[in-house]
Amino acid sequence: MTAEARAAGSGRGPAALHGKVAIVTGGAGGLGRATALALAAAGAEVVVADLDVEGGREVADLVGGSFRTCDVSDLDANRALVDFAVERCGGVDIAFLNAGVATGCGVADDFDLARYRRAMGANLDGVVFGTHAVLPALRARGGGSIVATASLAGLASVPLDPLYGANKHAVVGLARSLGPALAPDGIRFNAICPGFAESRIIDPLRDMLSAQGMPVIPAEVVADTVLRIVTGDDTGECWFVQAG
Ligand code: NAD
Repeated sequence: MTAEARAAGSGRGPAALHGKVAIVTGGAGGLGRATALALAAAGAEVVVADLDVEGGREVADLVGGSFRTCDVSDLDANRALVDFAVERCGGVDIAFLNAGVATGCGVADDFDLARYRRAMGANLDGVVFGTHAVLPALRARGGGSIVATASLAGLASVPLDPLYGANKHAVVGLARSLGPALAPDGIRFNAICPGFAESRIIDPLRDMLSAQGMPVIPAEVVADTVLRIVTGDDTGECWFVQAG
């Protein structure tokens, strides 16, 4: 593991997640990278998954983990990812289902079926398929933790990208229903709802954000929230956490 990876553990030390295996989807992106670093620094063995092969491999190398190409909108690819993690690392304890995209179209004249399907596939199917695929592996370990990246757009009105808002509200709705349903099996399901955070996804919005004085939080803040959830600092009734 590199010095950058070691430094990302938020003071929890390498023992907090020692022996745990974590899958991070969208691991090549801003929030995925920061979270992979934080999980690895806390002692987890990390399997990075992304469509971006070069970026994903780079993060996997950084954290001393493995990389697997995975399109999270494909159910079989999610199953293959979990099989890969089980074969390579002996099991899975944590799934950070984080891959996502901005929609880039609306529902009126600006509707674009391909963009809509791509966003639904990454933002919603990716969480549903990822959860379906990983549950048997978590049960085999006697429990575990799933964290899905929703967004503040899953709680508030998003006139800029209503379909993104719809995807993320669905992820929050899933967490509300699935969290209590999985709890008796020792599996925690949380959705996090970051505000604007440092990553490529906000590049098209930077001018607007700065003109409006909107804050952009460091990706490490989101990573620390995920770490608090999976290490059990946020437990009990807490199936839903807002970062930033
Ligand atoms: P990012 O663009 O840096 O990272 C997203 C990653 O997801 C990329 O590496 C991309 O290749 C990958 N990806 C996209 N579609 C995929 C697919 N079908 N299969 C596998 N990988 C795929 O952006 P980010 O901000 O790190 O985004 C991570 C998550 O955080 C997303 O779900 C996003 O909606 C959410 N989010 C981001 C912000 C923010 O301000 N950055 C705020 C709230 C929520």
